[in-house]
Amino acid sequence: MRRLKHYNRKLLFAGLLSFILFIQACERKVEKEEDCNFVQNSLVQRVSWEGNLPVKFFVHESVPVEYLVKVHSAVDRWNALRAEGEAPFFEIVAEGVNGEVDLRDRVNTIYFQEVWEDSNEKEQGRASIHWVGSRILEADILINDYNFDFSITDYVEIGRVDFESLMVHELGHTLGLEHNDGDEISVMRTYLAKGDDRREIQEADLGSLSCEYL
Ligand SMILES: [Zn+2]
Repeated sequence: MRRLKHYNRKLLFAGLLSFILFIQACERKVEKEEDCNFVQNSLVQRVSWEGNLPVKFFVHESVPVEYLVKVHSAVDRWNALRAEGEAPFFEIVAEGVNGEVDLRDRVNTIYFQEVWEDSNEKEQGRASIHWVGSRILEADILINDYNFDFSITDYVEIGRVDFESLMVHELGHTLGLEHNDGDEISVMRTYLAKGDDRREIQEADLGSLSCEYL
């Protein structure tokens, strides 16, 4: 009987504690935001770099040297949207860096992967973003070199995935953008067909970006 009483008191304490936390959460006046095709945190706020630009990227040594020019072209396409005098979205600070894939080292890195999970074999690339609150602290890009052949020529080779279009898309994710399948030509559409050129950033993408950056 005594033990039961003690147990109940403990339960009461836990209830009070969560109630206090709940009150505090309310006082922070967290506002829900329109998604604008951005990833949102658990408080329904868009996640972004919040003016902490440029996002400094390292290119891993696994990325073939002949692909670097296309990495830069994709970066330039995003940076061209910034007004003069503003910090660019991205900066490539070093190429040919080594080390294991690390998605939590606070270093933004672009990797080519020679191994890819069978369960995700249709995924051409993957962007990983890590945020605290609504601020992104790290972004990494993995390219699926195991399941796909890429095209790095001006005209996209038949049966190959255009590498520059893929980079434009993945870089969009690293800014916090989600897929946008509501627009026919957005660079953030989920699927990029082999042979397709989707390098050019579209009105719909600018509309999304304007919620956070432009
Ligand atoms: Zn995607």
